[in-house]
Amino acid sequence: MSIQNADLHCHSVVSDGTLEPEVLAARAAANGVELWALTDHDEIGGQRRAMAAAHANGMKYLTGTEISVTFAGETVHIVGLGFDADDAGMLRGLQATRGGRGARALEISDGLAKAGIPNAYEGALKYVGNPDLVSRTHFARYLVEIGACKDTGEVFRRFLTEGKPGYVPHRWASLKDAVHWITDAGGVAVIAHPARYKFTANEEYALFTEFKAHGGRAVEVVTGSHTETEYVRYADTAREFDLAASRGSDFHSPDESHTDLGRLPFLPGGLTPVWELLADRIR
Ligand code: AMP
Ligand code: MN
Ligand code: MN
Ligand code: MN
Repeated sequence: MSIQNADLHCHSVVSDGTLEPEVLAARAAANGVELWALTDHDEIGGQRRAMAAAHANGMKYLTGTEISVTFAGETVHIVGLGFDADDAGMLRGLQATRGGRGARALEISDGLAKAGIPNAYEGALKYVGNPDLVSRTHFARYLVEIGACKDTGEVFRRFLTEGKPGYVPHRWASLKDAVHWITDAGGVAVIAHPARYKFTANEEYALFTEFKAHGGRAVEVVTGSHTETEYVRYADTAREFDLAASRGSDFHSPDESHTDLGRLPFLPGGLTPVWELLADRIR
């Protein structure tokens, strides 16, 4: 069995995507995906549906999630793959990570109100599929709806990133806890989209070094937000740190995501695909 078109990173309405797991599965299969994982933010409530839909569409499946972590003052995302979705430690850890989102959303709304946009919390809620998982993406959709910005990218730039009126600093899980939840549940931890973080070279080195020390085993090399130069750069980083490589679109929505499910270059040669570490976890 030699898999090439694996897509191991995307989001459904269970977090901040706009499609149901079943619709995502059909779309992935139509795009030629052989091995799929749904990786909702801080939540695994969609895993059963996603696995059933993967099988109904002729795909193999790995369980997935994307955990929000605070490292060196930045938010870093750690994808977990192939874990036991009934693991009690994992369920508790994710629930605790989601816990601060409700209060944060009210603070985001207050910040936006001061910038002249009232009732953003109520507006964002119209887009929320999971009341436990109100994210900045839902606010962004509401601000586009009312014409405050032309697309969600502009909302993030003008309102939702550091220094902007709707930005609320937040402490997520620790790197150590997130990696341990995943690995203790039998899965593999993956550093998501490493090129997206605003780290110095020293901070990035510390991230990879500590990630490995805690038991992390892979890095996303080919992902929707990386350029071709960044594929090469993080292929080198994978070799340097002896990490396996992952591939995932990070698809959220047909209207917002420029990379569709499965529509990415294959992994560069000479790397260990993360799914080879997870051969006995593939369903
Ligand atoms: P949150 O977990 O509430 O902080 O929201 C993070 C999510 O916002 C990410 O997973 C992305 O889906 C989305 N996001 C972050 N930055 C941007 C951006 N610049 N443009 C569009 N979406 C973004
Ligand atoms: Mn997201
Ligand atoms: Mn992410
Ligand atoms: Mn993601």
